[in-house]
Amino acid sequence: MIIKDAKFVISNTDLDKCPTPDKAEYAFIGRSNVGKSSLINMLTNNGKLAKTSGRPGKTQLINHFLINDEWYLVDLPGYGFAKASKESRFKWTQFIQDYLMNRENLLNTFVLLDARLPPQKIDLEFMNWCGHNGISFSMVFTKIDKLSSTALQKNLAVYRKEMLKVWEELPPVFTSSSTSKFGREKILNYIDQINV
Ligand code: GDP
Repeated sequence: MIIKDAKFVISNTDLDKCPTPDKAEYAFIGRSNVGKSSLINMLTNNGKLAKTSGRPGKTQLINHFLINDEWYLVDLPGYGFAKASKESRFKWTQFIQDYLMNRENLLNTFVLLDARLPPQKIDLEFMNWCGHNGISFSMVFTKIDKLSSTALQKNLAVYRKEMLKVWEELPPVFTSSSTSKFGREKILNYIDQINV
């Protein structure tokens, strides 16, 4: 897929205020600092579209971007931010759950995972929650430039084993590097393929 145009549309915490659901939509979510903003900027060839932040948990909104006037890319808040108060975390959980469970044009949620880390409880819980609620998702292992391919394969195998304890089969798995742009084409082609 060629990205001709990518523009910011709206940010909010309210499903009702999201754009009219008349186009296919794909969301990106993950723990703070996983590399979500960098991946979105890499995919859209726009260094500034999603705000990369040194302060985890800063972007706590549902951010809609319109790509090629054809589909929505949604940047969801990073989960698991330590500095947010319990109250704001609860609100986050509510509106994010509301969005994921009720957004009718949402075709896939990309769950970002740091390729260097072993399976994290919060990520596994989130993916299990998606599974129980019928929310389609794929896994994207980020920052693969930071480890050797042997270490990557080893960690993917650990994940596979962990996931297969609960799942019959794994969702689609992607690997990416925002610095080398590895994975860009595969992720965009996947979006193209399910954009029917
Ligand atoms: P977010 O909080 O999930 O949006 O994460 P960011 O995109 O802001 O990235 C967090 C940090 O990881 C930043 O310092 C990025 O430069 C770095 N980073 C993100 N993606 C990659 C990657 O693919 N490779 C490398 N080496 N660093 C990355």
